[in-house]
Order: sequence, then C-alpha cells, then structure tokens
Amino acid sequence: MTPTSPDTLVERSEPDIADLASESVIIFDTSGTIQYWNPASEVLYGWPPLAMVGRGIGHLSARGANEGEHWRLLLQEGAWQGSVSRRTLWGIHVAADIRQYVRFHDDGTPRDVVEYGRRSLNESAPVGGDWHIPDRLMAASWEIDTSRAQQLIATIVALRRAGTVIAPSQFTLWCHELVQATRIINVNDRTARLVGGNRGRALMVGQSVATFWPIESRAILGALIVEAFMSETVGPTHRRQLVSDGILRDPVVTLWRVTEPERAHRIFVAVNGTADDDRSYLYLRASEARYRKLVHYMPIALLQVDASHMGKIYADLRNKGVADFHRYLDAHPELIDIANETVRVTDVNRQAVQMFGGTSPLDLIRPINYLFTINRNSLRNVMIGRFNGQQNHAELTRMQTLDGRIVDVQLSVTYPVAPLELDVTIFALEDVTARLQMEAQLRQLQADFTHAARISTLGELATSIAHEVNQPLAAIVTNAETSLRWLARADPNIAKVTQLTERIAASGRRANDIVQRIRGMAAKRAPERVALDLNEVAQEALMFIRHEVDSRAIRINTAFGTALPQAIGDRIQLQQVIVNLLINSVQAVEVREKDARIIMLETGLDDDGALCFSIRDTGPGIPPADLDRIFEGFFTTKDSGMGMGLAICQSIIAGHHGRIVAVNHPDGGAQFRFAIPAGTGAVR
Ligand code: ADP
Repeated sequence: MTPTSPDTLVERSEPDIADLASESVIIFDTSGTIQYWNPASEVLYGWPPLAMVGRGIGHLSARGANEGEHWRLLLQEGAWQGSVSRRTLWGIHVAADIRQYVRFHDDGTPRDVVEYGRRSLNESAPVGGDWHIPDRLMAASWEIDTSRAQQLIATIVALRRAGTVIAPSQFTLWCHELVQATRIINVNDRTARLVGGNRGRALMVGQSVATFWPIESRAILGALIVEAFMSETVGPTHRRQLVSDGILRDPVVTLWRVTEPERAHRIFVAVNGTADDDRSYLYLRASEARYRKLVHYMPIALLQVDASHMGKIYADLRNKGVADFHRYLDAHPELIDIANETVRVTDVNRQAVQMFGGTSPLDLIRPINYLFTINRNSLRNVMIGRFNGQQNHAELTRMQTLDGRIVDVQLSVTYPVAPLELDVTIFALEDVTARLQMEAQLRQLQADFTHAARISTLGELATSIAHEVNQPLAAIVTNAETSLRWLARADPNIAKVTQLTERIAASGRRANDIVQRIRGMAAKRAPERVALDLNEVAQEALMFIRHEVDSRAIRINTAFGTALPQAIGDRIQLQQVIVNLLINSVQAVEVREKDARIIMLETGLDDDGALCFSIRDTGPGIPPADLDRIFEGFFTTKDSGMGMGLAICQSIIAGHHGRIVAVNHPDGGAQFRFAIPAGTGAVR
C-alpha cells in the first residue's frame, strides 16, 4: 500500500475491520452502486463481493419493493432501520434486519450509505413483502431528569388536586419554567441529529431541555410532564400532538415515567413525525451544515448563551415597575451573582475553545461566571443592555482564560429579539490583546518621534533661545553694574539701588521662566490633558521664535479672540504645533522684501463652537499640486527640510480630536488653520 493521507487511511482501515465483522456491512453510494461488501454479507446473501461491488443495491431487493419511497425516507432521516426481504444467490428470499446510515460530506450533501444487516430473528418478518417503512422510523427520544423541577411540579399537582383553577397564562408560564429546570440525561441519534447542532449528543447531555426543545411546543411538554406526575401510577404513556416546528411534520410526543423507584424523577420522551419533504430537508441540512461550518471556523469566538431565566426575572421586575435598572442593581448586587450562575453557555465555536485555551467545547459549556471573573462590571453592563431592551451591547473588557492568561477582549452581545424570542443570546469575543499592545507601542513610537522632533526644533532655534536667555542676563549685568556705581558714590543712592536690585530680581525670574519653558519642551513626558488658554499657548510659542522674527524684520500681527472658552489639551504639544507652523511661515516670508514679511495669527471660535487657531503669511503660498501632500511624512520642498513638521502637527491635532487644514489665501500666501473642541467654562 502506498502511503496516503490520513483521511484515505481511515477509509481503507474501515472496511478492513468490517471484513472481520459478523454482521453484514455494505456500503453503497448515492446512486445505489455498491462500493463495499464484507464476507458476512456473502454468508447472509450468498453473493460474493466480486459479484456485488459495482452493482446496484436494488439487485438485492424483492420485486415490488417500494425503493423510491425508501430512498427518499433514508435521505430525509439520515438513518433507517427495519426488516426487509432480500433476494439471495440461491433464488430464495431471506428476511433481514438492517440499519442504514447516510454519511455526509462536510458541506452537508450525502456521500454514501453504510448498511448493517443480520438475519431476522423475528418470525413475523416480511418474507417477500414490502419495506415496512413509516412506522419503523426511529422516534427522536430523550431521557430527562426532572429533579430540579419537582418543587414546581408538586405545587401545580397540589393545586390541581385541590381543584384550584390555575389561570392559563400562569400555567403556561409555569410549564416553561418547568421545562427550563429539566436536565437531559441522554438522547438518541435522531434527536441529536435533529436538534443537537454541531456536536450532537455530547453537547446536549447535562443541559436544560429548553435549550433544544422548540419554543413553540415547550409549554406542551411542560403540561405533559405535569400530567405524568398527576397520575398515581408510572406505567401509562401520555401523548399529545405538538406544534409543527419546521423540523418535523405532524410531530407527536409520547411521554412516560420510569418504573424503577430509585429513578422516580426520570421521564422518557419520544417524538414521532416525519421530516418534511426530502428536498427541503436535504437543502436545509446542507445549508445548515455549511452555516455551522462557517460559524464553527469563524475567526471570532462565538458563544451561544441561554439567559432565558434572567429574561423572566427582568420581565417580573418590569411588571413590578422597576425602570432604573442601574439603581436596582446597586441595591441588589446579588442579581449579578444569580446571572453568573443561571445564565449558561450552551454552544461555542472552535475559536472560542482556542481563545480560552480549552481542550474541548465542553470546557466552556457551563454557567457564564468564568467569563466575568476579572471584570464583573461587564456582566452588569450586559444585563442592563438586556433589561433596557437593547439589540446589542459592545464594550472593551478583560477576561481570564482557562489557562490563567488575561486577555483584552472586544465583547459584542446580540440579544434575543422579541417577539420572535428564541432566547438565544450570542456573545462574540475578539481577542484584541495583540492589537492593543501594538497600538500602545505605536503611541510610544509616535511620542518618541514627536519628542525627537521637538528637540530638533529646539536645536534649530538654538540661536533664538540663546538670544532669549541672553536678554535678561544682559539686563542683570547692566543693572548690577549701575547699582555698583550708585553704591560707590560718597552718598550712595539707596532708593536707586533698590529699584535696580528689583529689576535684577525680575530679570532673574524671567531668565528662570525661559529656562523652565525650554526644559518643558525638551523633557520627555507623557502627554496630559489640562484646561488651557489657547492665546497663552500661542504667546509662549512666539517667545521661542522671537529672535528669528526680529532678526529677519518680520512683522507679527495678532488678533486674539477675547473671552474664549478653555481648550482641553497638552500645553507642550500644542506649543509644538504652533512653533512648527511659525517656523514654516518664517521660512516662507523670507523670500519677500523686508517690509512685506508679515505673519498674522488669529484665535477664535468657529461656527461649530470649536476653538480655532489660524496662521497666515505673505510667503509664496503652496503650489496647488502639493496641497494634498504637505501633511505626509517626509514631504518637503526645502533643501535641508525633513518634511516631518506638518505630519507631527496633524497627528497632534488629531490626538486632540481636532483637524488641521492648509489653504492658499486669495490675497496670496499660505494659511493654516486648526480647530480643537473647546472645554467647558471660560478662561478667567
Ligand atoms: P519641512 O518644513 O521640513 O519641509 P513640513 O512638514 O513642516 O516640513 O512642511 C512640508 C512642506 O510644506 C514644506 O517643505 C513646504 O513645501 C510646505 N509648506 C509648509 N508650510 C508652508 C508655508 N507657510 N508656505 C509655503 N509652503 C509651506
């Protein structure tokens, strides 16, 4: 045998084992052509594998058998079992008990049929007769534990026995509650196939019957359970027609209590009914398989949650007049504990298992408390959303995985929609830990860069700064020398010396002020949001470039708005923006004659009430083709330019939830405007 993919190996090994089986095992494809025929089939029917593989399964059928109908039912149900009459090699017919199972492709379309068969032990088995079909269809059966519903059942039974009339609406409510309280002990294949979803039986065991039982007929099931416990004896069966739920046609439910006293709280339920017309059933099955696959492999963790218990509590609270659920939860935090314990995850997809570091979906299929160990407040928010009748709720939160990691999670909740209330809530969780980390790194990088740009600007402005510091120092020296001269006189003029000393102190303070400001610009620090006066920030920025302005004979006109509201922002960053814009304008007006070098600064409020700052110069303006590009990083038209000034301005203003634009003024020159939201309260 040549090495093959694991899939093919499984395919091969399967018939190998079946070769040893004492039961007849036959595999045939969807056109009925036999693919595999084991030795036990030869014993049973006489035909050797060589004669049968490649032949139609119909070759075995007794004449007159309703093959078409059988095939239709088999595909509908995915499985069939019953007694059939088969034609043997010896020309006689043999009665066989067979079980047939359809195997499906991943996309839900049928692949082939595996048939197990043995000689019928039943004397009355049809010999030469037809396929006994409909009544042999498997019922969808359930074994259910009602222990947790016993109290409610006892209450209802007692009321009934006492002849008390129970209002129908109350009774329906109780029936729903009762079904909610039951637990699944076991289900058969058919039930698992019909309602079990992705993982069938394993997923269903231990969960509430309500999670899987169609909501339209939950009350009927509840009523039947009450009926079963009303009767003194455990033997009889209780039967009712169910509301059709789109899965089965004319479903009938039969229910009985178990006879063993030690299992007195158990009941068995069998649902009979045929799946609807084969084409739609197959279609449904295929589309459902595709849908399930899609959901299962979705790269977002999805959790199906049953919060029906809380839904009822909320309805009660609303009826009692509770409107402000925030306040109610403050007074009754225990309701959050109740939600933690009673709201259950009922199904999860692959990504959810992966994200939580679980090994199987069953690790996550339990009450939701493990989701909210880190951030209980998130559960509170989810509850408030449901109480307030929202359709969705989304928030950023943190969760602890099963293996102890803490992950940042974008949580999106989709609530059940009334009145179609199926009571399925979906939690979609996206692990955003890596994204948040990357964002933090980016922010850090950007901060580093902005800082580097500030330092480089300070470097460029070194002459200006030196000049700025020099001025008070020079004043100090002059005043000190004059003081000394006054003191050296025969009659020292103390009043004059006092005046000069005061000036010295003032100049010292001014020098200190300047140094502090430069330090502020140079220091590496996290941005902070404070209330500030935009005019003050602009004036401080002007200080940095005063020397550049003076030495180039540039005129600065200012039109600062009065009584402006405060801006909320980072003082140093906003200074950096204005300094950058000023430097660009200083460089732009340089090409003009001395008395035509003008820069105009303006502050005010725009139509939207945002604080705005505008700077306009009498330079050459920006070539229209460049207007779209000047804010890009590294775009420069200057020989020694870096092209980062405006890019940094834009990112700082965006960080302040504002915007910055550049235009060419109709009277010539460039104009830059930025606007940032105003805080509340006026500048004193
Ligand atoms: P840099 O000043 O290093 O070139 P910027 O990002 O500050 O970097 O500016 C990018 C480009 O935008 C400049 O090279 C220039 O072409 C244009 N620009 C900026 N401000 C003005 C202005 N006031 N007048 C004309 N062009 C300007």
